[in-house]
Amino acid sequence: MIRARSTRVFAAGACLATTFLAHDAAAHPWHRHRGDEARASEDASATTSDRSSGREATDLPFILTAAPRTPPARGLDIADAFAAFEKLGQISTRRDDRWFFVESNGLPDHPLMVGIRNWQQQVPLPQTYTGDNAWRIPLQPVRAREPASTKNRFLRGAIALAVNGIPIFNPLNNRGEDALAIGELDEYGGHCGRADDYHYHVAPLHLEKIVGKGMPIAYALDGYPVYGSTEPDGSPMKPLDACGGHEDGAGGYHYHALEKYPYLIGAFRGEVIEREGQVDPQPRAQPVRPALPPLRGATIVGFESPAPETRKLVYEVGGRRGSVEYTVAGDGSVQFTFVDPAGRRTTESYQPRPRGGGGPGGGAPRPERGPPRPGPEPGPGAPRPDPTQPRQGGRAAMDPNGPGADAGSRRLASRAIAVSSPAFETGGKLPAKYSCDGAGISPPVAWQPGPSGTQSYALTLWHRSPDGVKSYWVVYDIPADITQIPEGARSVGRMGLNDKRRAEYDPMCSKGPGAKEYHITVYALSGRPQVAAGGASRATLLEAIGDMALAEGTLTFSFERGVRP
Ligand SMILES: [Zn+2]
Ligand SMILES: [Zn+2]
Repeated sequence: MIRARSTRVFAAGACLATTFLAHDAAAHPWHRHRGDEARASEDASATTSDRSSGREATDLPFILTAAPRTPPARGLDIADAFAAFEKLGQISTRRDDRWFFVESNGLPDHPLMVGIRNWQQQVPLPQTYTGDNAWRIPLQPVRAREPASTKNRFLRGAIALAVNGIPIFNPLNNRGEDALAIGELDEYGGHCGRADDYHYHVAPLHLEKIVGKGMPIAYALDGYPVYGSTEPDGSPMKPLDACGGHEDGAGGYHYHALEKYPYLIGAFRGEVIEREGQVDPQPRAQPVRPALPPLRGATIVGFESPAPETRKLVYEVGGRRGSVEYTVAGDGSVQFTFVDPAGRRTTESYQPRPRGGGGPGGGAPRPERGPPRPGPEPGPGAPRPDPTQPRQGGRAAMDPNGPGADAGSRRLASRAIAVSSPAFETGGKLPAKYSCDGAGISPPVAWQPGPSGTQSYALTLWHRSPDGVKSYWVVYDIPADITQIPEGARSVGRMGLNDKRRAEYDPMCSKGPGAKEYHITVYALSGRPQVAAGGASRATLLEAIGDMALAEGTLTFSFERGVRP
């Protein structure tokens, strides 16, 4: 695969040089026939209705049978570019005198997610890119005096909208890395952001098969179309300027897409408004759950649809498989079932939050300040998503009374053990002495003995934040004959590293209003996890535990600054 950064050819500035590389016809990794692959992304919302025909999109290479609505005096009318997918029921469009609006649920009608080997644990969920949260393309693009480079700007949000209603983000992720080159993308060039919003990071050249050569595959958010490898008249692509496009000979301008970096739109030739690092306005993706951290070493190997509203993502890590299965209900609530590679099964449910809306008069108040925006990108340095919390349940890891108690076909003989604290009630409030408001010592913890064969115990104290799981306390190598830790103990087992990389208890000290939920999970292990001498973080420990867990249990409690229980 050709992904050399040396092909990065444009510099910020005028799009004058014809330095964009010629189109390379080599096969690219996200482009393939649909064949017999699972139809992975059928509707989970109202905007997709015409999927019952069962026709493969590849059977429809020239479905643009409708005559252009307006004779293309100066080229194509934008509506014609989107007509193929509007006919398929995947998008709907409208316009006013300024904008062309595209509504979609953000889910493409092609297999997705498979092939990602740098996965942030997000999954595709339907989005409400509708109403005043629809995508909007300027109907009268205005040539910018100075093109705005996308090389180190516009690293957040979309820079273009594909004609199937899926946003295209900058090929560089918001850390400036080539998202395709580092394995973040599926075979179609897409993945999910922190709001579980699916988007592409490279040009969706596979759409050429559906819309036909010579039709745009996308529109840049400055209003100029993006073509694939051929000119609108079917002739081979002419040389490109540093923006990745050229004059169209009729007073207009268009871009072309390449199969390798810089893929598309090296700079905006048309005027765009930049606000907080992204093109403004653009819709906002709405998370229903907190974002998760990357799952290192995982590759997504399957994405299926076992039932109409259910999706099942299967990943492989260390030669073993885990899965995330989720069902979207009519009211937008989502029920997740996670089975980790050790066979542990947990469930979570989330309710949709009121949408903030992407434009003026956008309905319910936005939960967070800031402009409307698509889903923030995964990874360090990403903007924070809304601090959504599960409305019910949360993680119910092995809680015998919780919704995750159904062990189903779990491979291991995993069992639940009760975990408690003599200092506070299960589900209760953490006394201040165990927080930064007090002495900040670790709380006492007790647990039921594990099953026979238990060789050691491990314990973690964690919290699920919008940024992922935070870890405050890690203890392992606790001898099998011990079933409690007194408060402030430092000599039971071995202390692992908290998120501050210190081998100690990190007292709860949450900023911000409201009580937050924390969890102490105790694992009964069939052996002693092997970790490096420097000590184990929670992630390292869980990796080392692998399938050693014979049983586990979680004690949940809440803590709020300055509130004395
Ligand atoms: Zn992304
Ligand atoms: Zn051209």
